Amino acid sequence: MSNKHRYEPSDYMHWVTDNVDTFVKGEQNLVACVYCIEIYETSVFKAYHNCLFCDKCDVDALMVVKHSPLIEMSDEDRMKKLEEWHKKGFTPIPKTAK
Ligand SMILES: [Zn+2]
Repeated sequence: MSNKHRYEPSDYMHWVTDNVDTFVKGEQNLVACVYCIEIYETSVFKAYHNCLFCDKCDVDALMVVKHSPLIEMSDEDRMKKLEEWHKKGFTPIPKTAK
């Protein structure tokens, strides 16, 4: 069974995993970091275990915009989506429910 199928379409893990091939080496790539909640251009290629790493925070939560759902969104919607993914991926689970 392929792991890809367990991802929801809203789950960013799909686009930050096994994504080294989406980065064009030696060129500026528009990338989005779910950890930094930032979209920026970079030619710095950092990867480990087939996953791209963010040049700014060194977290493997980096996706190439062109190869993600962000490409079809407005700038405003991109930031909203990144924030949503960030909350989902990096917010610690609260110890007590409200
Ligand atoms: Zn980052």
